[in-house]
Amino acid sequence: MSPTPKPGILDIEAYVGGRAAIPGVAKVYKLSSNESPLGPSPKAVEALTAAAHDLHLYPDGSSRLMREAIAEVYGLDPARIIASGEGSDALLTMLAAAYLQPGDEALFSEHAFLVYKIATLANSGKPVVVGEKNLRVDVDAMLAAVTPRTRLVYIANPNNPTGTYITHEEMRRLHAGLPKSTLLVIDAAYSEYVRKNDYEAGIEMVSRFDNVVMTRTFSKIYGLAALRIGWAYAPAAVCDVLNRIRGPFNTGTIQQHVAAAAIRDRAHTEKAATHNAEWLGWLTAEIRKLGLSVTDSVGNFILIRFPAGAKNAAEADRFLSSRGVILRAVGSYGLPDCLRMTVGTEEENRLTVSLLKEFMGG
Ligand SMILES: *Cc1c(COP(=O)(O)O)cnc(C)c1O
Repeated sequence: MSPTPKPGILDIEAYVGGRAAIPGVAKVYKLSSNESPLGPSPKAVEALTAAAHDLHLYPDGSSRLMREAIAEVYGLDPARIIASGEGSDALLTMLAAAYLQPGDEALFSEHAFLVYKIATLANSGKPVVVGEKNLRVDVDAMLAAVTPRTRLVYIANPNNPTGTYITHEEMRRLHAGLPKSTLLVIDAAYSEYVRKNDYEAGIEMVSRFDNVVMTRTFSKIYGLAALRIGWAYAPAAVCDVLNRIRGPFNTGTIQQHVAAAAIRDRAHTEKAATHNAEWLGWLTAEIRKLGLSVTDSVGNFILIRFPAGAKNAAEADRFLSSRGVILRAVGSYGLPDCLRMTVGTEEENRLTVSLLKEFMGG
């Protein structure tokens, strides 16, 4: 008999990222992967160059320099930060590897980030998908789906691809209804963009409770997607577990130096957040004027819903692609009538709106 993988693995549909190129189109505008239109901090790029020596030496396996920079900026205990050199995706997967026994359940919402399902199936867990209300996480429905086998609850806040968020109060209510043995994983990949007084990224929750973990990434507002750096803030006991199972050198020297420089450049992060707030509002208003519905997003992307028929999402995608604008089809997220658009540069945003206008009018 040939080698057989663990139960669940062959049920995984491999993740397909946003397209980066269009055959036959030379100049493309990639608005399909929620990358930063401003790129990284110049200080992060300087750090990259400066770190490009001693490549023959192993990195510091504890990622100390990077964890200390994060801890300093957010006022956290560096011992409770876990770094990852394979994005926050790897941390989400590590949590499933550490806490799921075969048949244990992991809960997430209907249009949640696809990595949760992959991480669950890869570890022989049972994905439990909970319905949403108006494309928002429904806390009551989540709580109603909890069973004695629920080990993990994954929530992206804000969620990708919907762009919606739940308030601190709702997150507290969700947590209060979970057994103490269930780990609540708050994926805060887009938290730096959120400008809402009733939102909390997860730091307060992790500080207060033993069964909450927050994951963060350098791929989005920090403009460093190419380097695959992420981190988690977790209770001491969870850090102890993750430090046992992670790779011994799970971040590279360059990643550590670049991450530290990027997170310390608060002005650059603020600039990216300000750019986003301005264009998120503009895009939402302009696209709604075309008669299309757009969710109230708090992230760096919007979800656009197209009507059935000649002006549907697939046709819009074809029209925009042929003119170089790449948005993200989200059929794999259960949203076949929608396209997700990343907030881009001024030029990209104006171009996309004018093309959408032409598409809807033509
Ligand atoms: C982009 C994204 C991430 C970040 O992934 P990395 O592996 O850190 O690049 C995590 N969660 C969500 C919901 C995302 O959209």
